Amino acid sequence: MGIFDRFKKANISTVEEINKTGGNAFKDIALPFATYVQMSGMDTKVPLYRWSYQWVEDIYYGSDLLRTIVNTLNGETFKNGIQIRAKFVVKCMGCGEEFFEEVEQCPICGSRVRRPDIRQKSMLNNFINKKNRFNSTVFEVLKSGDVDCHIFDNTFFLLTREYYYNEEGIRIGAKIVDVVRLAPDRIELILSSYGYGRNDMGDYSYVCPEHRETLVTKSEAGTYMCQFCGKELLPAWFAANSSGTGSLTSNNQKLYFGKGEIFHGKRWSTGEGFGVAPIYTVYRKLMTLIKMDDFTLEAYSLQRSPKTILVIRGRTDNIVQAWEYLMNKARENPTQPIPLVLESDGNEGSRHVIEKVDLNLNPAEMEMTEMIKQMREQVGLVYGVQPMFSLGTGGGSVGGGLSNQGLQVAVTNRTIKDSQRLWNTALAWLAESLGVEDFVAELRSNENEEEIAKVQLESERARFAQALKGLGFDVDLVYKEDGSIDFRYKKVSSSLTADMGAGGMTPDQAGEIQGLNSEANADDRSDNNE
Ligand SMILES: [Zn+2]
Ligand SMILES: [Zn+2]
Repeated sequence: MGIFDRFKKANISTVEEINKTGGNAFKDIALPFATYVQMSGMDTKVPLYRWSYQWVEDIYYGSDLLRTIVNTLNGETFKNGIQIRAKFVVKCMGCGEEFFEEVEQCPICGSRVRRPDIRQKSMLNNFINKKNRFNSTVFEVLKSGDVDCHIFDNTFFLLTREYYYNEEGIRIGAKIVDVVRLAPDRIELILSSYGYGRNDMGDYSYVCPEHRETLVTKSEAGTYMCQFCGKELLPAWFAANSSGTGSLTSNNQKLYFGKGEIFHGKRWSTGEGFGVAPIYTVYRKLMTLIKMDDFTLEAYSLQRSPKTILVIRGRTDNIVQAWEYLMNKARENPTQPIPLVLESDGNEGSRHVIEKVDLNLNPAEMEMTEMIKQMREQVGLVYGVQPMFSLGTGGGSVGGGLSNQGLQVAVTNRTIKDSQRLWNTALAWLAESLGVEDFVAELRSNENEEEIAKVQLESERARFAQALKGLGFDVDLVYKEDGSIDFRYKKVSSSLTADMGAGGMTPDQAGEIQGLNSEANADDRSDNNE
């Protein structure tokens, strides 16, 4: 009997079921409607989501603005691909301290040091480039998860494993199979005020990886065995419902998943529970923009409001003939003004026997263009993109004045970095699950934008240098370690001292200015690094 015969291989659960699309999915019912799960940023349980996943998705697909924003953010975040880098140059084999420069032996404990294990790098690299059961690489899975986050602020990735057990049924290891994106509208969190994996009574939830249909609840935390196969249970944190999480019917079968099996990503919310997408904040503006489009469409289509109304005033008996004549005309010709009769009381206000009312709505009068511009800007701000950016004048590429460009790039950079930070967390979760400790996989940063930000910073420095030179300072050009240019203001020229007399600047004060300036530069740099 070989050693591996003892480790009975567990079946991989049929996760394909979860993402299955079908007419029966209860997408039109809001998620925590049925589950009353705690939401991010709220300390009370409320049946939140006045709007269903279906509704949110409709807004997304119906709004050209939102799609442009999401596409641009998504494209910029993943523009430069994934890179793998070593976490350290050498690591102490004694105390585990990691060093970022070459050392012969550990300066802390004196033990020998080792280099990163190159086998871990290829393991991570192979997994990242491997296609999952839906024929997607990790990169593609993350990229679609990013879109989920912008729309729903809930992204779920499932890492499927084959578990290995010993003869007592204790779990002794697992082999990673693949990582798949789960449709966010199918996943519920097992979460209460007691925390993840616990219900409202404080009971702990467990699931067997081979019998995922059964949720086991225990009043005490501990190691429990499956009632069907005798294998160790996992603490259950998630439930997947292929009929949609809003499904209220009792016959839909949920599958349960353990802590660490599913990655839950939130881009726009903090805290426990479900994320709340920016759509909930800006839906009024998005709806108005969509309705404005509808309005314009209707103005150009046949189902517009009548362009004119003909108002006839006079005594009822006197105008019956004219009325009937006009109604007959209107029946024959749809473009004929629709007559409207008002009985005249002989007052001053109704001097006109006949009156034409123009019903054409004038976009200029409604200041529609200005409104659209403002609403687009406000939606853009919530999503962390520059107004001009969201209007589609170029995805962060060079264009317009340099000073405008700098501001635009700075905000975009931060937004992209925030997104990348989340997906780097997901990559770290994958690496950790694979047992990779010496290397990290991460999204490559948005270098072009950083380059523009650097030029922006340098021109600001040059402007400042010129101003100081105008005040009589001696200015020296210096190159910094990162290759960018800066200036040193070393001396106050004699003429300045003479001009300013006793109240003038001493060389010490000039030194202070230099200090202030380098501090300011340091602040600039940290802003850019955010
Ligand atoms: Zn050491
Ligand atoms: Zn079992």
